[in-house]
Amino acid sequence: MNQESTRRSGGISVETAHIFPIIKKWLYSEKDIFLRELVSNAADAVTKHKRLVSLGEIESGEDETYRITVTVDKAAGTLTVSDNGIGMTEEEVTRYLGNIALSGALDFINKYEGEGEKNATGIIGHFGLGFYSAFMVADTVEVITRSFTGGETIRWVCNADGSYEFTDAPYERGRGTDIILHVTEEESEYLGAYKVKDMLDKYCSFMPTEIYFVDADRAEGTEEEPADTDTENAEEKAPAEPTPINDTTPLWQKSPSECTEEEYKDFYRKVFRDYREPLFHIHINADYPLNFKGILYFPRLNNEYESMEGQVKLYYNQVFVADNIKEVIPEYLLMLKGVLDCPELPLNVSRSYLQNNTYVSKVSAHIVKKVCDKLNSLCLNERETYEGVWDSIKTFVEYACMRDRKFYDRVSDSLLFKLTDGKYVTVEEYFKVEEGETEPAEKILYYTSDPEGQAQYVSLFEAEGIKVAVLDRLIDTQFVQMYESYAGEGGVKFRRIDADVAAALQADGDVTESEALTALYREVSGNDKLEVKFTPLKDGSTPAMLTVSEESRRMEEMMRMYAMQGGMGSMPAYPVDYTLTVNTASPLTGKLMDLCEADPDKAKLIASQIYRLCLLSQRKLTAEELTDFLAAGFDLLGKL
Ligand code: ADP
Repeated sequence: MNQESTRRSGGISVETAHIFPIIKKWLYSEKDIFLRELVSNAADAVTKHKRLVSLGEIESGEDETYRITVTVDKAAGTLTVSDNGIGMTEEEVTRYLGNIALSGALDFINKYEGEGEKNATGIIGHFGLGFYSAFMVADTVEVITRSFTGGETIRWVCNADGSYEFTDAPYERGRGTDIILHVTEEESEYLGAYKVKDMLDKYCSFMPTEIYFVDADRAEGTEEEPADTDTENAEEKAPAEPTPINDTTPLWQKSPSECTEEEYKDFYRKVFRDYREPLFHIHINADYPLNFKGILYFPRLNNEYESMEGQVKLYYNQVFVADNIKEVIPEYLLMLKGVLDCPELPLNVSRSYLQNNTYVSKVSAHIVKKVCDKLNSLCLNERETYEGVWDSIKTFVEYACMRDRKFYDRVSDSLLFKLTDGKYVTVEEYFKVEEGETEPAEKILYYTSDPEGQAQYVSLFEAEGIKVAVLDRLIDTQFVQMYESYAGEGGVKFRRIDADVAAALQADGDVTESEALTALYREVSGNDKLEVKFTPLKDGSTPAMLTVSEESRRMEEMMRMYAMQGGMGSMPAYPVDYTLTVNTASPLTGKLMDLCEADPDKAKLIASQIYRLCLLSQRKLTAEELTDFLAAGFDLLGKL
């Protein structure tokens, strides 16, 4: 069947033959990239032609439409990438495809072979091996090409062993190149339409030349359908104009002033297949001195934990490179979703290359700055919107602060605290003193870690006009710790509302202390080290308040966390380091003091109930405590 005659044959140099098995072995895990390499080459060939036209070196046809077509033909066992770019002459094919810049590549391979597969992508492409990645899935690759300079169509066939030959072309083609992969039986999945379409979607969705996908099986199928004589129907059934699989002008390439809100949302939906609207976005369009573009979205989250799964896609001149490269964007920003196009990176880069690249670290620093700028500008200029999204971004922002001191320094004025009354304040606003008021000696920010469980304390604080922040997330314990250490001496201190009896809750007046009552409370609490203090409180309805100092509670929380992680044996369920503040302004306390002498049994019953009620307003009771509490309560009712 093959009528062509071999005109010239040869072999790719011996070293190249050695490279094939290495390419195959190293790239095993990322085989799919061969298609990206071939389509990128095709897009480059088109770009080169466009450039020559724009330079006036060649004339373009009137309605020149550049296009790339990827065709799978299962029956023929081929996968073809065609373009109408500049094409190649026979001499160029020999020069570009028959020779690889070997010395550099071989050195590189020798140097990094020990580092394993991770670095493989650093070789392919970097040294002009892109075309050869085709041999990961094919045993023969045919190149049929015609240069823009004219001349005849060239056919070049190269085998996996490195041997090649030029033969007469089986067909004439216009300017451009067909790369025909004869896919091996082993890799026949690359003849599957879904597989190939998927790979194109992943790597080529935003390439700058229109890409069409053709499934030869289906294309023939439609042709064989019986012709419909009914014209109306025929019109309906007429195959739709083929549409390119890619968007050649992705939104990030536009200037932010030209993009609408709707476009940003559509782009997000399309790229991330997330149908919840993002909270807001940041469009980075840096030209000089750093050249890179991108759009980052703050995704809408259902809950606190979901946030850890972001996705930031890295592109090189609109060609997809990889997801979540933490050298280019700090790991804590990977919770965001977005796209970054860094045209100054080589298409294929190794991790070690990225780690030592100043462009990369500048890009990363610039992204951090942009994210911080956005948060600050929202806080300053769009406070309502900012408050509206704060609950959703809080965990992310706090985490970022903890991971990066610089991030914290930049946004510290824009960190919000949600109060128990639903308002949001910055630290500055929390400590703002009204006219005529005096500055407090210490900056203590009161918070609750459980507004419902600690409602009793909350209402005491609210009654005195003290703001209480809600810090009820897992991350808050560590965030508070970090915040204090960043703030340093004399800075803000956080205190949970049950950590001490705030000065503002205390009343003036004489203090009567009672040793008998101290002893009684120690007895009923079962804790002979219980610290008992006597203070008059403004709120007379509460006979006593239970507190645990901030330090010992934090220590306790930390130990419990370690224990939970399996670090230690059994831990006490709750801290024992309690202080009971007896409210001497409470009538019930007065009565109890009298009863200590008059009716010790009754006093014990009442003290026991008070203590349990204090515990209850501070935390959940243990099973044993609850049982006791209920029994004593019923007993008490019986005695009324
Ligand atoms: P790289 O693209 O990294 O230079 P390749 O091995 O992929 O390395 O390709 C080598 C060269 O072959 C390219 O630089 C280009 O000059 C030429 N080439 C490859 N594919 C095409 C194509 N579709 N059209 C025109 N030239 C091509």
